[in-house]
Amino acid sequence: MTTDTTTSVSLDVRDVHLAFGPNRVLRGVDLTVPRGGTACVIGPSGSGKSTLLRTINRLIEPDRGDVLLDGRSVLGDDPDGLRQRVGMVFQQFNLFPHMSVLRNVTLALRRLRKLGEDEAEAVARAQLDLVGLAAKADARPAQLSGGQQQRVAIARALALRPEVMLFDEATSALDPELVKGVLGVMADLSAAGMTMVVVTHEMGFARQVADTVAFMDRGVVLEAGPPEAVFERAEHPRLRRFLSQVL
Ligand code: ADP
Ligand code: MG
Repeated sequence: MTTDTTTSVSLDVRDVHLAFGPNRVLRGVDLTVPRGGTACVIGPSGSGKSTLLRTINRLIEPDRGDVLLDGRSVLGDDPDGLRQRVGMVFQQFNLFPHMSVLRNVTLALRRLRKLGEDEAEAVARAQLDLVGLAAKADARPAQLSGGQQQRVAIARALALRPEVMLFDEATSALDPELVKGVLGVMADLSAAGMTMVVVTHEMGFARQVADTVAFMDRGVVLEAGPPEAVFERAEHPRLRRFLSQVL
């Protein structure tokens, strides 16, 4: 995918803590992604992966710790501005069903990037073209496959020219035959130099695309390293057990 990723930034999550009442969901998470790097986050259900992503783009404020883009803390920044810099794609695509594909993409461009209608449409069409969906611009989401809908959601996020992209189990809701196309778009984006954090159960993707694989368990990153190290030479017994269940 050719995309303007010259503005991608490094991401540092430092000692992030977060509790929901008595439930200490994040207990000191550290994660570093260099500019243009891709980190895949793996781990059991309930270990805090989604919550971690939500603290990075400030859908939730951490109780303690810091999140830095290019070495600068973003916790004091305006959350709307930050959400333009940090794009997020969810398991459920969250497209507006009553709007065309094109309008799903132009809406945020007009609201957040304050583009006029013509310019927003041009940007949206170009971005849809990059995910292979130029021909679907006038369709409603329900007329698209799940994989196509997820690619629209990715185009919508990329149209805002984010500096970091977060993916939360972006392929988990898809029929198996549709997974590959979406992972392909994500792999292209990684290769194009986007800084990414990808929560995934797709171990093949993590192995091939990640620079770093981080294993989350009970609210901490228990082990992290290059894919070969994590998959072939896992140190922690809990990681070894997890891998034996998913591989
Ligand atoms: P994962 O994505 O690894 O499956 P989550 O981050 O979704 O884990 O959840 C971690 C823990 O936080 C779970 O125990 C979950 O019930 C709890 N949790 C997540 N979101 C909320 C919330 N908004 N309010 C209360 N508890 C939450
Ligand atoms: Mg989750």
